[in-house]
Amino acid sequence: MRWSLPSILLIIVTGSLVTVMVHGGEVFNKVVIDPGHGGKDPGSIGFGLVEKELTLDIAKRIEKLLVGKGIEVEMTRREDVYVELADRSAVAANSPDTILLSLHFNAHADRSISGTETLYWPGSEKGRELASYVQSELGRRLVTRNRGFRPERLKVLELAPVTGILVECGFLTNRWECQRCGAEWFRQIVAEEIVQGLLRYREAGQ
Ligand SMILES: [Zn+2]
Repeated sequence: MRWSLPSILLIIVTGSLVTVMVHGGEVFNKVVIDPGHGGKDPGSIGFGLVEKELTLDIAKRIEKLLVGKGIEVEMTRREDVYVELADRSAVAANSPDTILLSLHFNAHADRSISGTETLYWPGSEKGRELASYVQSELGRRLVTRNRGFRPERLKVLELAPVTGILVECGFLTNRWECQRCGAEWFRQIVAEEIVQGLLRYREAGQ
């Protein structure tokens, strides 16, 4: 099929309208990064990998990338320590223009299940938008199953007084995906994709 100029223009116009309507964005200046689990709470464990270690690693990669872009970062933990959910959320309080990014890896009794997904607090329109931006970047450079974004009643999101999302970066119970999660190159690309999603959301708010 040959595309005529008017039809291409129409697609461009329609596409940008949809973008404006659905994705409002938000100009944040600070990101609170929450590496899931820690200390006495290891999180999921699969094939020798421990979730709390992977979340901290990926959080530090994201921090480095964001700081490089001139965005302030605060971490809910920097070491292998246990932090209550309420204390994690509280880090984002009293801090204007802030978003919360909680990082996790997944597990399932069905070991065939794999992929990434992003969760937001039910009813949070900004949370839904942020989740859609980040999830649409995940898997752009990596062949990984896109499990989409959806609302979920998660305590850490409920207690946070700012726009927040929780990214599940992969299933440690899936042998193939767990191997990738254990590789530095994989975690680096996931970190870059998440940052790309955050920055696109920020740009949309300007
Ligand atoms: Zn977790």
